[in-house]
Amino acid sequence: MLPIALLKEKLYKPHHIVITTHHKPDGDAMGSSLGLYNYLVQKGHSVKVIAPTDYPVFLQWLPNNPEVIVFTEKREESAKLVAEADLVFCLDFNALSRINDLGGLVRASDAKKVMIDHHLEPENFDDYRHWNINACATAQLVYDFIVNTMDDKALINKDVATCLYTGIMTDSGSFRFPTTTPEVHRIIAELISCGAENAKIHQLVYDNFSEDRLRFLGNCLLNKLEVLYEYNTSLISITKEELEQYHITTGDTEGVVNYALTINGIRLAALIIERPDRVKLSLRSTGDFPANEICKKYFEGGGHRNAAGGSSADSLDATVSKFKSILPEYKNLLIV
Ligand code: 5GP
Ligand code: MN
Repeated sequence: MLPIALLKEKLYKPHHIVITTHHKPDGDAMGSSLGLYNYLVQKGHSVKVIAPTDYPVFLQWLPNNPEVIVFTEKREESAKLVAEADLVFCLDFNALSRINDLGGLVRASDAKKVMIDHHLEPENFDDYRHWNINACATAQLVYDFIVNTMDDKALINKDVATCLYTGIMTDSGSFRFPTTTPEVHRIIAELISCGAENAKIHQLVYDNFSEDRLRFLGNCLLNKLEVLYEYNTSLISITKEELEQYHITTGDTEGVVNYALTINGIRLAALIIERPDRVKLSLRSTGDFPANEICKKYFEGGGHRNAAGGSSADSLDATVSKFKSILPEYKNLLIV
């Protein structure tokens, strides 16, 4: 693996660059990808962002969002771009399985791969790596790459700043998770100075849902929330009929799990959703409780200590039962 610093010289001449990010991209995935896009195009490169799947409407206002190609909608065009690229940036993920079928194409491409990421346990598929699990967002690492590796602070224009602000804001829970260091606040201050309209960005991301989504949230809290006080754990499970009833689309379930964690004393919260192909789990925890360990060990997933995810081929009921049956193993960590 080569030091990321070598990219500075390599990027002097124009390249064909593909930027990709993880399945069902979130605010950090799209913010860091479009932030890097809006920077690299200023350097004269030919750049494309390929998202492996669709992503929430509340991210589709990001500067130059219309330039994003969704792999599942344009497989042939995506495959051609990846095959012809000489650099592929992989942002906010570190295992090619996280980008589904696109992973095989990236692996097979002759392009040099650049991983910029903050998740644990990276797989070895990259040629250059900017990886730091202490970063609050991949967008923070992209900022660091532009400013410190590339020495291009002057190219952080309003579009770049807006995208990176969005990535840091969403992955830090609006600057409240423990990863929000003084350095993160300094970066955020710089991004606002460079043109990021903070109040507007918060509104576009957080106040951009449908009426159906708000009523769906009401249903989750009123009818679906289960609190297991003996394990300081709360749980919301959702059937596919409910997803249909409330016309739930990509992004509408994001943030719901956090409500289950707002109950006094709760250390672990789970949102378990019956998706068309598999049952998907989202876990959130407080303090040093390792939500990612449960996802890795039992649900073919992973993530961060306090925010992790996984899935199951079992039925919704069986997955909920399995989740509950795991709790005794963690009782000592849950009851403190
Ligand atoms: P969410 O609950 O919002 O879907 O995901 C929270 C975090 O868990 C993500 O940032 C990601 O790091 C991780 N994650 C979610 N789903 C998966 C999965 O299926 N596999 C792995 N390895 N990580 C996941
Ligand atoms: Mn992230």
